[in-house]
Amino acid sequence: MADKTNMQLLDGKTTADAIRRELAEAVKLRKKEGKKIPHLAAIIVGYDGGSITYVSAKVKACNQIGFESTLIQYDESVSEEVLMNKIKTLNEDKSIDGFIVQLPLPQHIDELKVTLAIDPAKDVDGFHPVNLGKMVLNLPGFLPATPAGILELLKRNNIDTQGKNCVVVGRSNIVGTPLSILLGRNSDPGNCTVTLAHSKTNNLKEICRNADILISAVGKPEFITGDMVKEGAVVIDVGTTRVTDASRQRGWKLRGDVKFDEVSEKCSFITPVPGGVGPMTIASLMINTLKALELRGK
Ligand code: NAP
Repeated sequence: MADKTNMQLLDGKTTADAIRRELAEAVKLRKKEGKKIPHLAAIIVGYDGGSITYVSAKVKACNQIGFESTLIQYDESVSEEVLMNKIKTLNEDKSIDGFIVQLPLPQHIDELKVTLAIDPAKDVDGFHPVNLGKMVLNLPGFLPATPAGILELLKRNNIDTQGKNCVVVGRSNIVGTPLSILLGRNSDPGNCTVTLAHSKTNNLKEICRNADILISAVGKPEFITGDMVKEGAVVIDVGTTRVTDASRQRGWKLRGDVKFDEVSEKCSFITPVPGGVGPMTIASLMINTLKALELRGK
């Protein structure tokens, strides 16, 4: 078994704080030069606890950096038409540089229709097919925030990815699939040999044990156990599941996909949950918002 002291935490919070400081400097400079300050808008529908926490964290990050932010809240019962009209208004509003519609949406609203309605030039979540297509072709656009945050975390912590076997478990459109493409392309970070695993994958344990870099985006606590991890692997835990915790006032805590105690005994680097991928996702959203302004030549 590897010496546990060799294991290093990939601290997303510290890395995201460094990015926030850099963005705050960029805002100061823009102000000095009389340039526009980035402005992010966020739409939230309903009262899902997770969504409220995520959107609040995004607005808080804007405030810390000096970005402008606008929060638009709708009741659970809002019609698709009202939401689509708001998206049209935000698309046309020159003061807004980028905006997001926090997912999931209530069942009566078509998420794909909503995603397609967002102007790709303001789609700072990077979910629009135009941006996903640009990502595949390595053209300038917006990378989806969570995969971009993971790349930034690897880069800023000097994790070498070239030639490594990387296994991504989970193939969602917003995390696993784009991440598998980004890590496989000819760039740094990148140049991995990527396996994209999912619920129909045979021999998942053997496949994971072959990974130099193992990334789990499944959403099942303790899904990745010690016997699935190669000695010295880099382990990135994207999962965030709320589980009951009576010892806490709020009654829940966040759990990742990785059985931390077991896996941390074997790996070289590991992201904690919370404090790993989550803060990096928010940092990426901020980077994309500034980029939205810059891509428009402002
Ligand atoms: P998702 O849409 O919830 O899909 C889960 C994926 O896991 C699917 O591709 C599914 O395979 C796969 N899966 C389920 N059971 C499996 C099994 N037994 N073996 C192998 N694969 C299995 O994915 P997501 O939206 O990417 O979310 C995943 C997790 O990441 C959630 O906990 C979410 O809250 C979290 N998340 C965190 C952040 C962050 O910033 N930290 C951002 C986004 C998401 P199939 O495709 O075959 O069904």
